[in-house]
Amino acid sequence: MLELSARAKSISPSPTLSIDTKTKALKASGVDVVNLSVGEPDFPTPDRAALAGVAAITSQFTKYTDVSGILELRQAIADKLNAENGLSYAPSEIIVSSGAKHSLYNIFMVILNPGDEVLLPAPYWVSYPEQIRLAGGVVVAMPTNESTHFKITPAQLEAAITDKTKAILINSPSNPTGAVYTQNELQALAKVIEQHDLFVVSDEIYEQLIYGVEHYSIAKFSETLKERTFLVNGFSKTYAMTGWRVGYVAGPAPYIKAMSSFQSHTTANPASISQKAALGALGTFDARHREEFQARRDYVLDQLRTLNGVTCAKPDGAFYVFPNIKGVLGKRFKKGNGDTVALQSVDQFCEELLTEVHVSTVPGTGFGAPDNFRISYATSQAQLEKAMGRMKDFFGRIE
Ligand code: PMP
Ligand code: GLU
Repeated sequence: MLELSARAKSISPSPTLSIDTKTKALKASGVDVVNLSVGEPDFPTPDRAALAGVAAITSQFTKYTDVSGILELRQAIADKLNAENGLSYAPSEIIVSSGAKHSLYNIFMVILNPGDEVLLPAPYWVSYPEQIRLAGGVVVAMPTNESTHFKITPAQLEAAITDKTKAILINSPSNPTGAVYTQNELQALAKVIEQHDLFVVSDEIYEQLIYGVEHYSIAKFSETLKERTFLVNGFSKTYAMTGWRVGYVAGPAPYIKAMSSFQSHTTANPASISQKAALGALGTFDARHREEFQARRDYVLDQLRTLNGVTCAKPDGAFYVFPNIKGVLGKRFKKGNGDTVALQSVDQFCEELLTEVHVSTVPGTGFGAPDNFRISYATSQAQLEKAMGRMKDFFGRIE
């Protein structure tokens, strides 16, 4: 067999998506699995979005569009950023892509040269390091943990900057920790960033999913900072539209133009139908979803805190909890068939949780956190109750 490229050989599949696929296959084979793995809202696509999508099909809005997305959608996104985030962008400063994952990849491809360093607060979402490496960049992880509420400090940032640093990634609210930086915290980081020549990639895709705190975009700090910031957002989380694949970036026109040229040779425009659906979705966020997520978060946290060896920080946003299981690693677990095994790693812990009690979660390894695992609570209360009952049974069998 002819060899694959070194690039292809270096990529591993997205753990969040591959665990979801494995879970769905197990379900299809008849196993009653509770799926707490993938981060996907269980709510339906808003009616207005769905109807706009249908209208796009029946009216034959099914041809190539502007590479960066239709002007109407970019204008509507600019209006949203103005009204909700207090940020002024022209449509020429916005590019729509096939999901925020695609938007992020476009950014790394247009800003990174081989060897450029990207500062990445850890734990991080699984696709950031892979995308940075694919674009030739070098990941410089900045570790955080429960004691710092999973947030980096200005001093930590200052110490991590070298003459090779090209960008810093900020993801608030965070996947997987749920941490949300306050306005003061972001302003303190912004002051450090302004003293250096750095891009900021600000992934704000969970901005609406916050519980009792405020979302602040670092791009608001100053015009100087806004001119170096790529603000990333999308429709997957706010509007429960994961399958439609629409994300966007707002940033300075010359960089957006470079992304558009890059996109013109790779995917070209995002699906025309999805763009119309996104236009229909804008402004329809249902605040009841936020309340529902908050109630689920509180329930899961209460339950987790009854389990021996588990500690869990309270997340202020997104729809994940990220428990620490250092207290059970190395201990023995009694399987259903009577055998006992040592729980050597969080990967093994998640594997046993899936095969023994049929609860699917994601080990922290891919997020740069080998003592934690991720639970997505974007599923019904009934499913969560079933899962937490099963986890209690599982923890009762740890010796
Ligand atoms: N950023 C973060 C932090 C995410 O969790 C996700 C999840 N899919 C994305 C970006 C990408 O979302 P999408 O491609 O579905 O817009
Ligand atoms: N971002 C979601 C997650 O972390 C969806 C899957 C993915 O794109 O990674 O589960």
